Amino acid sequence: MKHINRKEKIKSLFANEPSFRLKQIETALFSTDIKNWNDISTLPESMRQILTKEVPFISLKVEKIHDNKNKDTYKAIIEVDSGDKVETVLMLNPRGYWTVCVSSQIGCAMKCGFCATGKMGLIRNLESDEIVDQYRIWQEFLSENKDLPQFISNVVYMGMGEPMANYVNVRDSVNSILEHTEIGKTHITVSTVGILPRLEQLLEDDKWPHIRLAISLHSADKQTRKEIVPTSYDDFLPKLSDWCKRYLQKFGNNRHHLTFEYVMLKDVNDTPHHAKLLAKFSTAIGNVRVNLIPYNFTDCGFSCSTPETIKAFNEELENHDVTVMIRKTQGEDIAAACGQLIKKNESKK
Ligand code: SF4
Repeated sequence: MKHINRKEKIKSLFANEPSFRLKQIETALFSTDIKNWNDISTLPESMRQILTKEVPFISLKVEKIHDNKNKDTYKAIIEVDSGDKVETVLMLNPRGYWTVCVSSQIGCAMKCGFCATGKMGLIRNLESDEIVDQYRIWQEFLSENKDLPQFISNVVYMGMGEPMANYVNVRDSVNSILEHTEIGKTHITVSTVGILPRLEQLLEDDKWPHIRLAISLHSADKQTRKEIVPTSYDDFLPKLSDWCKRYLQKFGNNRHHLTFEYVMLKDVNDTPHHAKLLAKFSTAIGNVRVNLIPYNFTDCGFSCSTPETIKAFNEELENHDVTVMIRKTQGEDIAAACGQLIKKNESKK
């Protein structure tokens, strides 16, 4: 069954209604007191009846929610209307609030060598309502679990899929979350392998909200990067560097930097030579931060760098005045960590 975008469907159903009615509907979707269309008491009865008949109140069905042993990470397996599955994760962040990690596609076409999702190939893009509803699922989950902290402070687009390959839906979903929640622009991060035409587009796009961007760099050596991220090409790195400089010139400030994500793969991208190249690449750009990500085991044939290697890599970057942090891994035991989504689960069936 083909998914019809909720916003578009509602617009077409109520084309003759004043625009504030559509706003009322959108706002209601983010209220945990409202469980179905009939609960929107500010809407006329006739509109509620049409909505109930024509539009699902939520576009996704939760199949199962897993929790990890520390109770700081939850992973939901959700079903879209075609029956395909995606995953979304809720993680407790160091501030004691929650970060929601959303998927933007079912599967992914980028085929990054270390990533379980990449092995699936791309099934389809998620519509903006299907992305927003991952946030709503967690909002509802927390409201039903009052013993847990209640506040979602961050949203990251780091689940299944390459967000920039689904640009319009990602942009619309971010704008919707910004409009209807207390989450601000610096608390939403979109992660991308760096699809340059889309990165160029957002520089000129008035509708693109200036949230944080994280580029999955994984190597500043062109050959190594091509091996890990097959969508990379010979002059990708200089072109990315040029784009980063223009982005920072236009939007950079103390609160707005770029992040390079760097997954630490044993004997692949973790040598002192790779650290030096990354330091050179980063410092030439300016206001960038590097996140070193210890690799989570999947069946993709890579393993994580040793803690000593990660520490040495981190030190090398710091010695070159690069702002760097080592990301704490969370949710590994329920395959909710970076690069693990869906595949491990499937292999258990
Ligand atoms: S790492 Fe991200 S972009 Fe690469 S294959 Fe996996 S989901 Fe796609």
